[in-house]
Amino acid sequence: MTARPIGAEVSCDGPDASRRCPESAAISPSLNSVTATEVRADGRADGWTRRRRNGRLVDLCPTCKPAP
Ligand SMILES: [Zn+2]
Repeated sequence: MTARPIGAEVSCDGPDASRRCPESAAISPSLNSVTATEVRADGRADGWTRRRRNGRLVDLCPTCKPAP
């Protein structure tokens, strides 16, 4: 049990459609972030990215982010 208020949880969708994130990563939102948009902004500061895959948006942690 944590003292953190329940907000949106944004977790990694894994390196591709058939593989799960090896680290089961999720963004740790800052105290003021409640909505998914705010949480994703926190994630971007930590190196998370959002991309389109097969017509839907997926969230990728720094580990699963495709190499440039
Ligand atoms: Zn990941």
